[in-house]
Amino acid sequence: MILSLKHKIENITAVGKRIAPALKKLGVLTAEELLNYFPFRYEDWSQVKKIEEVEAGTTATVKGQIEIIQNKRSQWKKRLVTEAIVSDETESIKAIWFHQPYLTKNLRPGDQLFLSGKVEDKIGELQFVHPNYEKVSRYKQEMTHTARIVPIYSLTKSVTEKQLRYVMSQVIGLATYLKDWLPESVIKKNNLLPLSQAVRQIHFPNDQQNLNRALERIKFDELFTVQMRSGLAKRALQQTLAQKIEFKEKETKKFVASLPYSLTKAQKITGWEIIKDLGRNKPMNRLLEGDVGSGKTIVACLAILNTVLNHEQCAYMAPTEILARQHYENITKLFAGWPIKIALLTGADKRANIAIKDDKEIYKLITAGKLDLVIGTHALIQAKVNFDKLALVIIDEQHRFGVGQRKALKQKNNDGTIPHLLSMTATPIPRSLALTAYGDLDLSVINEMPPGRKEIKTEIVPPERRPEKYKFVLEQIKAGRQAFVICPLIDPSDKLGVKAVKEEYEKLDKKIFPDLPIGLMHGKLKPQEKEKVMRDFLETKTKIMVSTPVIEVGIDVPNSTMILIESAERFGLAQLHQFRGRVGRSQEQSYCFLFTESNNVEAIRRLQTLAQCKNGFELAERDLEFRGPGEVYGIRQSGYNDQLKVAKLTDYIIIKKSKTAVEEILAQDEKLNQYPLIRERLKKFELEVHWE
Ligand code: ADP
Ligand code: MG
Repeated sequence: MILSLKHKIENITAVGKRIAPALKKLGVLTAEELLNYFPFRYEDWSQVKKIEEVEAGTTATVKGQIEIIQNKRSQWKKRLVTEAIVSDETESIKAIWFHQPYLTKNLRPGDQLFLSGKVEDKIGELQFVHPNYEKVSRYKQEMTHTARIVPIYSLTKSVTEKQLRYVMSQVIGLATYLKDWLPESVIKKNNLLPLSQAVRQIHFPNDQQNLNRALERIKFDELFTVQMRSGLAKRALQQTLAQKIEFKEKETKKFVASLPYSLTKAQKITGWEIIKDLGRNKPMNRLLEGDVGSGKTIVACLAILNTVLNHEQCAYMAPTEILARQHYENITKLFAGWPIKIALLTGADKRANIAIKDDKEIYKLITAGKLDLVIGTHALIQAKVNFDKLALVIIDEQHRFGVGQRKALKQKNNDGTIPHLLSMTATPIPRSLALTAYGDLDLSVINEMPPGRKEIKTEIVPPERRPEKYKFVLEQIKAGRQAFVICPLIDPSDKLGVKAVKEEYEKLDKKIFPDLPIGLMHGKLKPQEKEKVMRDFLETKTKIMVSTPVIEVGIDVPNSTMILIESAERFGLAQLHQFRGRVGRSQEQSYCFLFTESNNVEAIRRLQTLAQCKNGFELAERDLEFRGPGEVYGIRQSGYNDQLKVAKLTDYIIIKKSKTAVEEILAQDEKLNQYPLIRERLKKFELEVHWE
């Protein structure tokens, strides 16, 4: 049978009926897709040793001849064991495999073979336990499972590494027919391997150097593609129109002067960047990045004020109902005395700062253009929400939204304009990462905190020091402060953590602080109940609020200066930093207590990092070291990580090179008329991406 790249996998003889369904599950339908299914790591078995050089406790590859091979029952557990004695000119060694009796049919005394695997010392005798084995072929290059750098794929249960490697070895020859979609000039300038060679080497590398070059080429391709995509998106956006928002200088100054504090320098700079963007007739697409508590809301308000004074509408989307309500209440207060009509729109809670008959009227007023600012949750993207003239969309904690949800709000207006978009995130993504991950966004960074904030004292608290901390909390509360207690979701059957948080509440309420009023917050409460819990806490009617992680983002209760996090080791660094950001919002000294019973070295090290690192950006860099960029909070949700199968956001040099290549191409041919293969690749990429 002559194979082609388009060949369906079930028609490839080597694949067979049994493996085809497993491959389909992995999203592999054709020979070409199989070639594009890259290993996620490698085992280097390329060094072939003499048997006498092999040492216990190491891994090794040897080449030898089978002397004896037979099946046995082990004495202990009656397991079926295949034992072989293999020797070379220096020594012989035993190899054992469990539950593979058919081996004696494939391997015969006299066969020359390679063994690769772990060598153990069994009562003074060395042996290979479950090694990879492969008969010696004439050319070393032809070895698939041993005596080479061996690819390891991520697989489902119904296919083994060995099976997939075999199938891959049968189709790898097709790599020759892959069309190289990168322009020759880019390949030359960046000294890249041609595509077919890179694909061949990424599966079956000749050596480490070739593997590195293959990886570099494939990474380049991935990073080139995402950057080309955002480059095009950015250009496309420039082709569209937005409402020009005239800067109302006098009113803006008056508003700023009415605040109980002065804006920080960073707030002024970022505010000005945004106002300048709004003043153009091209849609703004800006990410406002600032650490937790750095004061992003007020910067957004400057944009809102100017938009509304231009008689245009704004939408403000927050990820949780609690946060949306908080914004509604705070922003309504901030704009008291200004002619700004504001509504709150969440699934269960709808209201406005003007008289309305019922919920339905809110939708009507939005459509009639009679509400200036609508603050809400995902409820804002329902079909029945139709703005008359939406000029500004603000997305708070944007990393909590899917790309699709973010896009949905950017509807077109009747006059054909597109709203300006301001995304905000407290997830401090290192700048280099942000620029790649959100390549089509402009970036504004608030790089300082409001003055007078004290460093939050962060401490890891082992069980024996709990009583001492509770005593401290009680004293602080008596001095007028308040505290949050965060409980993780412990029991998987308890998806919303309701059980865990109730237990904690009972304990604190009955045993630890019987004299204090305590509130209980979780996602299962009705909206009115949530609101009451929040309000009681804000008005200091309750002194402690026990909560599930629902209050992770955005919540602002400046008088609460303590946060106690239960089983802190269960949370990621960025998430812990977000929790910690709930306190330290006033001039009082704040505290973050990380309760943990864990002795896990890695976990403790992570918590220590949090205790030492107060700056979110620094923390994000450290997080990056701990977990790699794929896991860093915010990036994972960017819809971006899916597309980087091999490349990492820390591949700075390749990021830079591919970005330059993209810019050069777009500068010269922004429609990609001369690059049909790039267009084709982008189209495919668009289909594969999971934009949620
Ligand atoms: P975040 O950036 O996390 O969204 P917020 O906008 O919620 O932060 O602001 C945090 C707190 O800081 C709020 O209580 C807000 O009123 C206050 N704040 C904002 N800007 C300043 C400032 N320049 N000086 C003092 N306090 C400020
Ligand atoms: Mg915020």
